[in-house]
Amino acid sequence: MAEAVHSTRFKDQNLVLWSFARRISVCCPNCQQKAEVEKEPNSHRSKFCCVNCHYQHNPNPGQYDLSLNVYCSQCAHRISIDRPRVKSRRQAIKVKCPACDSVKSYQPTYKLSYWPAFRTDAKEPFFGLALWYQAPFKDEVLWAYNAEHLLYLEQYIAAKVRERNNRRYATMVEKLPLFMQLAKNREALLKLLERMKRKG
Ligand SMILES: [Zn+2]
Ligand SMILES: [Zn+2]
Repeated sequence: MAEAVHSTRFKDQNLVLWSFARRISVCCPNCQQKAEVEKEPNSHRSKFCCVNCHYQHNPNPGQYDLSLNVYCSQCAHRISIDRPRVKSRRQAIKVKCPACDSVKSYQPTYKLSYWPAFRTDAKEPFFGLALWYQAPFKDEVLWAYNAEHLLYLEQYIAAKVRERNNRRYATMVEKLPLFMQLAKNREALLKLLERMKRKG
């Protein structure tokens, strides 16, 4: 097999991890085949339905979006609270009214949370499913959301010169763990990426 030809320069395209989250390749927890977590159009939700075994998965189990919309029982000031991704549901929560400072208990509503929770342990952020593209590297794990992400990482790792672009936020490559940035790991990482690409 011919060695891939790599450019020695990498110019940051200012992509963030979210840029690759539209379609994430995972290992189906039911049949262990490759499957996709896909973003629904015009929303921040993703869905998972395995094309091989039709297994479906609920969003981040045990995570809820809490909301409370009430009028203060003391002064009738309107109180609105939104807390994404809370871990537990409670009958009532204590809230201090910003207008009169009285602390009262109110009953919030809970909806299953669809907010992604980005993580560094080779799992995707919507359901916590194991990523399809992952491989151990020393004490670390090299992972990617999909083939496109894999190629982008390859370009970054292969480059001897890494250029920044005008940007107002930390990009995906700027947040990469140190082991992926070190020149001494370059060759080994590129071999590993090559193997991961062949996983299909
Ligand atoms: Zn499956
Ligand atoms: Zn009040």
